Amino acid sequence: MNKLSIRDLEMSGKRVFIRVDFNVPMDGAKIEDDTRIRETLPTLRLAIDRGARLVLASHLGRPKGKIDLKYSLAPVAARLSELLGRPVAFAGDCVGADAEAKSKALRDGEVLLLENVRFHPQEEANDPEFSRRLAQLCDQLFVCDAFGSSHRAHASVVGITKFVRQAAAGLLMEKELTYLGKAVSNPDRPFVAILGGAKVSDKIEVVQNLMKLADAMLIGGAMAYTFLKSQGLPVGKSLVENDKLDLARNLLEEARRRKFRFVLPVDHVLAESPDSASTRVTDIAQTPENLMGLDIGPKTIALFNQEIAAARTLVWNGPVGMFEKPAFAQGTLAIARAVAAASAAGATSIVGGGDSVAAVERSGLASKISHISTGGGASLEFLAGKKLPGIEALTNKSESRKEI
Ligand code: ADP
Ligand code: MG
Repeated sequence: MNKLSIRDLEMSGKRVFIRVDFNVPMDGAKIEDDTRIRETLPTLRLAIDRGARLVLASHLGRPKGKIDLKYSLAPVAARLSELLGRPVAFAGDCVGADAEAKSKALRDGEVLLLENVRFHPQEEANDPEFSRRLAQLCDQLFVCDAFGSSHRAHASVVGITKFVRQAAAGLLMEKELTYLGKAVSNPDRPFVAILGGAKVSDKIEVVQNLMKLADAMLIGGAMAYTFLKSQGLPVGKSLVENDKLDLARNLLEEARRRKFRFVLPVDHVLAESPDSASTRVTDIAQTPENLMGLDIGPKTIALFNQEIAAARTLVWNGPVGMFEKPAFAQGTLAIARAVAAASAAGATSIVGGGDSVAAVERSGLASKISHISTGGGASLEFLAGKKLPGIEALTNKSESRKEI
């Protein structure tokens, strides 16, 4: 990683502004799932151990630039305090006199959480004056641990970096950059990409970019049907994006020309609708007109398993079936097992995407995966080869100190 890490910072006695992702699911004032808070603890403990004075900022939900206490981070301060086993001060506004006074009152190892940065419209507008006011709360040291927000040029992610001396990656962010960065720049080969999910249109750029980087691509899920139909195969009532057929055909032609292994399903699990009780398995070529494909079939699973078992790098985004329904979850579970087994045999595996991560977690195999990417949209943009503004804005190791 060529970006500065929190481990490179001299933080003792300094106020460090740490942008975290505390965007936890809430039920009223109750935190439904505190995973995101717990995931930041290593970064926070490192800063505490090094004698930093921690000023934490996050967004929560979509308050749309207005104060809406439904999206207050106050309950998060309480939960964080329990998890850290130490007091966490709270400032009811993320900028202004109160936040400044509370940040200045911090002693070494003490923690202040700021109220939701999205209560101000200037946050999403990446407003320079607002960014400067956020930066005033620290001693020119910024740490970003919010990978899931790094594809957005917002003030607490990007703007603030202009007003600090050093902007470093937190431990979570560093892990994302290490795994995703290696996959796109210097993967162990064979590198096999597994893509699925609902729509080709969501993932065109990911398909195009991974076709340049990987050795093979396995396509399942609803998005496979646009590719299959573009080859004149019958797809029944399966989900197809008819306006993407030309694009799908072109991608497959390019793959053929370059002898790139682009592997599509050969059979599938069908039903009249996602809710119907009876299912059927057929080869793709035998797809009946009145049924829709909702999961990959056993021959496809065997085909995919073979590719996965031979891989040294695996990137998986998108369930290969409608895994939310048990009748159509077998394909996705089989892929999860195959990826877990390949990882146990030494392959590096990365799973990204909200639904894919949920599927892997439900399979009970999450701990067997080398890296579960926390940022849905951000990891897709990364795999699509885009530069993420929140990462670009971090200080390069080579210019580890800049004058401002
Ligand atoms: P991720 O969040 O991991 O990026 P997506 O959001 O792209 O994944 O896709 C997940 C959705 O795709 C799931 O809701 C799943 O039900 C749906 N899906 C997968 N295969 C099919 C299929 N054959 N038919 C309809 N929906 C499907
Ligand atoms: Mg999704």
